[in-house]
Amino acid sequence: MAKTKITLKIAQEIANRFKAGEKRQDVYKDYPFNQSSVLYALKRYGLWFKKYETKPTPNIQAVLDHREMLENGSISARELAIKIGCTPVYISVLAKKHNIKLYYSKHRGRGKGTTDEVSQQVLDHLVEHGGTVNSAARDLGIGSSRVQQAVRSYARRIGFDTAPYRIAHQRFGLWKILPGTPEPCYTADYRVDALCTGCNTVHSVLIGNLRSGASSGCHHCNRYKGDIQVRCVETSEVFRSIHSLSEELNLKYQKVRMTLRDEGIFEYLGFSYIFET
Ligand SMILES: [Zn+2]
Repeated sequence: MAKTKITLKIAQEIANRFKAGEKRQDVYKDYPFNQSSVLYALKRYGLWFKKYETKPTPNIQAVLDHREMLENGSISARELAIKIGCTPVYISVLAKKHNIKLYYSKHRGRGKGTTDEVSQQVLDHLVEHGGTVNSAARDLGIGSSRVQQAVRSYARRIGFDTAPYRIAHQRFGLWKILPGTPEPCYTADYRVDALCTGCNTVHSVLIGNLRSGASSGCHHCNRYKGDIQVRCVETSEVFRSIHSLSEELNLKYQKVRMTLRDEGIFEYLGFSYIFET
């Protein structure tokens, strides 16, 4: 690295670029100095400010854009997280950093612990999305252990059993697991009720078969496994198979198939595709 002295002129130039909101890294790479010498020079010339406004990242921007909605509860941390592709926990971290009071944490009551109302919201979320008390609370952006404990004791108090929702709503191919208590079956497997979304019928299935991919729908629907039809929600266009859809969109078959299998929906360029039922 060249041993050039950072003159006042250069330091000012760098400071101005910081001020204009350029990314630090982009600025540094235009100069032959290492970062600490730049910082030292800026301080020396009195040009150093702790907070040059840097452009917020897309995630931060999204959280800031949803400030009001996050505060009045019209969007939850989970919903926003899904929308922008990060975790609910990260949303609550960013919210805290930018002084946004998440609706759900604001309404858990101060000092008096978690209110019943909030506990009920967590349970409602659990019923709707499946998982555990902990994951539901995290999804809502209020996953502290204090809240989780309060929700569990509230559930006990009102006689609500959370166990049947642990794997509920998970999707495997056409299968969607229904709330219920898995019954032990054979040596290491469990039987549970699942809905075949291919034909809307309920069957008792072995979880092991679902997880291994051995079964991806009821016998009737499995017969046509090779070509399960896919429908575009927006245009109602029906594709005769995942194959023809991926060819049409010029995408990798596996990617489309895995997403449809795991999430039950595939979204691309503003269109969403689901298994034709
Ligand atoms: Zn079926």
